[in-house]
Amino acid sequence: MKNIVVMKFGGTSVGSVVALETSTSIVEKHIDKWGGIIVVVSAMSGVTNMLLECANKAEEGEIKSYEMIIDEIRQKHFEVLTTVFQNDEKKQIETEIDTLLTELKSICYSINIMGEITPRGLDVIVSLGERMNAKIFSAILRKKGVLSEAIEATKLIITNNNFQNASPILNQSEKNTKKILLPLLEKGIVPVVTGFIGATTDGKLTTLGRGGSDFSASILGACIDAKEVWTWTDVDGVMSADPRVVSNTSVIPELSFIEVGEMAYFGAKVLHPKTIMPIIDKNIPLFVKNTFNSDYPGTKITNKVSKRAGKATAVSVIKNLSIITIAGKGMMGVTGIAARTFATVARTQSNVVMISQSSSEQSICFVIPENKAAQVVEELTLEFQRELDRNDISAIIERNPISVISVIGEGMRETPGVAGEIFTALGESKINVILIAQGSSEYSVSFAVETDQANLAMQKVHKKIIENHQNS
Ligand code: ASP
Ligand code: MG
Repeated sequence: MKNIVVMKFGGTSVGSVVALETSTSIVEKHIDKWGGIIVVVSAMSGVTNMLLECANKAEEGEIKSYEMIIDEIRQKHFEVLTTVFQNDEKKQIETEIDTLLTELKSICYSINIMGEITPRGLDVIVSLGERMNAKIFSAILRKKGVLSEAIEATKLIITNNNFQNASPILNQSEKNTKKILLPLLEKGIVPVVTGFIGATTDGKLTTLGRGGSDFSASILGACIDAKEVWTWTDVDGVMSADPRVVSNTSVIPELSFIEVGEMAYFGAKVLHPKTIMPIIDKNIPLFVKNTFNSDYPGTKITNKVSKRAGKATAVSVIKNLSIITIAGKGMMGVTGIAARTFATVARTQSNVVMISQSSSEQSICFVIPENKAAQVVEELTLEFQRELDRNDISAIIERNPISVISVIGEGMRETPGVAGEIFTALGESKINVILIAQGSSEYSVSFAVETDQANLAMQKVHKKIIENHQNS
């Protein structure tokens, strides 16, 4: 089947009556333009958090509290039903939602009895937001005269059993997806699939990690060989920087998969970091569009962007980091120090954000999340006790709070001068750069600064290398 599009609607795009009306109208409007539309929905905004809260309260034995939250969740969904549907249309879907909420109540009750919650149990609880909303979205489409059916992704997306953060098994998911969704699409039915969730080969429900509905959309897109994947959100597209920090940001019209990969890693929140993984090989373009400004083109992400030599595309930041430095004159020429350092760090399960070693080999610096720093220093001190005693290593030091800022863009590749401009901008504002790294791919330059200078650094760099180049 040709010309299939997957359209994912995020929490705010399905979080109220108005939002649901707007999103379903978008689907209705596009129905004739595509061979088939697959919808993926998130939970109504806020609901996943409420479900987590239910689980916590149940674990703490606070029956009244979780029952109150369940009532709130019920009200939130029933309010939509009451506003959108006539009395006689409402019955069936009300019963379906109530069945799910009864399920929630009994799971919470058993958690309360056991006083303990497993990752697997938690996945069942947090999945309910998407499961309720797929039914509602699909019913609204049907009311608009669009043939539609709600589908649980547990039948489509097969994952490993890493509950809370499961990874898809693509070949098995592809088989299921084609078998179940193609016949629906051929009949002109719009499947409305629950985002965020999947199931293990033996049918246990899993979730793909917070914000995972984007990932669901790209998994399904890859499985069905979609022509395009669209994620509908509440902003105009991927921005050149966080608009809460930098004024004069702009929507990036085109991005490459590689750039998005760098951006996701460096904390841009528009897309789940794994979203592009399934669609890169098949080269399926991904669009990020605004539900509430739906004619705006948004951001198009593909494997190739128009040439824009010399230009950086985006600036992003990760905060709450620490720099760990291992320093000592006796480290020079000794092999194995780096290997032992990072093996030790790995044992603490800390994610290393950046690494630098000067060619004099008298120090190794690396950046990790601040909340891991104390443990890492302790483990390193044990590992290098002998070198410390002999004063080959003179100190293992932690410095915080640190932020790492990254400047990203394919246009920087093989273009001299970009790094110069970045560091000139920082120097002009007397911002002290503690650490610098550029991958040999040259798609991004990262540097670490003290966190109280991070916002200023973002603003200055954005101005110099993005705003000033905009019209050139
Ligand atoms: N509802 C899930 C969450 O809030 C998944 C998503 O919205 O993408 O994390
Ligand atoms: Mg989301």
